[in-house]
Amino acid sequence: QSVNELSTRVEESTETVNAERNRLDSVLTHMADGVLAANRRGEVTIINQAAADFVGVDREEAIGQHVVDLLHLRGKRTLRDMLENLDDFQVDLSDAGKEVVVQAYVSLIKRQSGFISGLVVVLHDITEQQRIDSERRMFVSNVSHELRTPLTSVRSYVDALAEGAINDPEMAQNFLDVVQDETQRMIRMINDLLELSRLDQGTMDVKLEVVNLNSLFNFVLNRFDMIIENDAKNADTPNKSYNIKREFTNEDVWAEVDPDKFTQVLDNIMNNAVKYSPDGGTITARLIKTKTRAILSISDQGLGIPRKDLDNIFNRFFRVDKSRSRAQGGTGLGLAISKEVVEKFNGRIWVDSVENKGSTFYISLAYVDDADLEEDDWDAE
Ligand code: ADP
Repeated sequence: QSVNELSTRVEESTETVNAERNRLDSVLTHMADGVLAANRRGEVTIINQAAADFVGVDREEAIGQHVVDLLHLRGKRTLRDMLENLDDFQVDLSDAGKEVVVQAYVSLIKRQSGFISGLVVVLHDITEQQRIDSERRMFVSNVSHELRTPLTSVRSYVDALAEGAINDPEMAQNFLDVVQDETQRMIRMINDLLELSRLDQGTMDVKLEVVNLNSLFNFVLNRFDMIIENDAKNADTPNKSYNIKREFTNEDVWAEVDPDKFTQVLDNIMNNAVKYSPDGGTITARLIKTKTRAILSISDQGLGIPRKDLDNIFNRFFRVDKSRSRAQGGTGLGLAISKEVVEKFNGRIWVDSVENKGSTFYISLAYVDDADLEEDDWDAE
């Protein structure tokens, strides 16, 4: 009877141990952090999928490898360092062919007697955090730089005025004009920054409405046509001459956007098309409907954008030619804002360009079906 009882108990405890192990296995498998254990000689005995992915080897392959080799720490850190100094440290896994940086936390596996039988390393992915940190540092440095340039110029003109230029009316007027321009630019930049910050924090008021894109796009283009007409009349204010061609689908295209914000985006792209084009160019505005998307595009015959810069064009403060953009009063933030805004409408914005030939900016949006529109009307009634 005793033997039977004992055997039942042994069976029960084996089951408990197995259940525990399964639970541990499943925790390890589903952890986003990498975990690996090694014996006191440093040979890996357990490794979860996340850790294997970080170092770029199969789990089976990793078992038995030395932990220092597996983490590409040769020459930087020894097993002894890891056992004696339990501070966490960073591991750059670019050596393993992965663009990943992880923070490694080490703890020891100790028996009750105090004998150290191995170690456990937890790897936490900090790549994204590092990217954000470096972007933030860069952003602060960019903002400071961008504001310092106009401020320095304002100061030197004000100094010159104070030192006597104020007595020469013509020169004084010139200097004041410059000061006015620079201050305007700083105000524009601060406004752009505030707008970006509202977009980042999600506190921007976005009022989505189903809008007829044909009319909205036309409205924006009409204003530019008006500017051209006015310029032609006032020949004494020589501005650029250009003409606008419309290639719109005959169908009505509806999409859900914030009309004010979307107008700003189109304005910005149109302004750029004028700004970065020589005289006499044609700007072509297109609106087409594909199977699932509405696509608006604006093509110019201007300077174009070098291929290497195409990916950066929507980054904050990025300009192909800083001095030209500044001379035109640009802040380098317009396209960054446009991108954020279009993404708020679940749209996409991108550019295609050939240097010295011209650029085409595209915006694609999901369109609202005419049939759905009619249904909405019925619902409303
Ligand atoms: P900016 O205030 O400098 O115009 P944007 O964010 O609107 O800032 O544009 C960023 C940069 O992209 C510009 O400085 C310019 O170099 C380039 N760019 C934008 N639109 C065009 C275009 N239509 N043709 C050529 N380059 C352009």
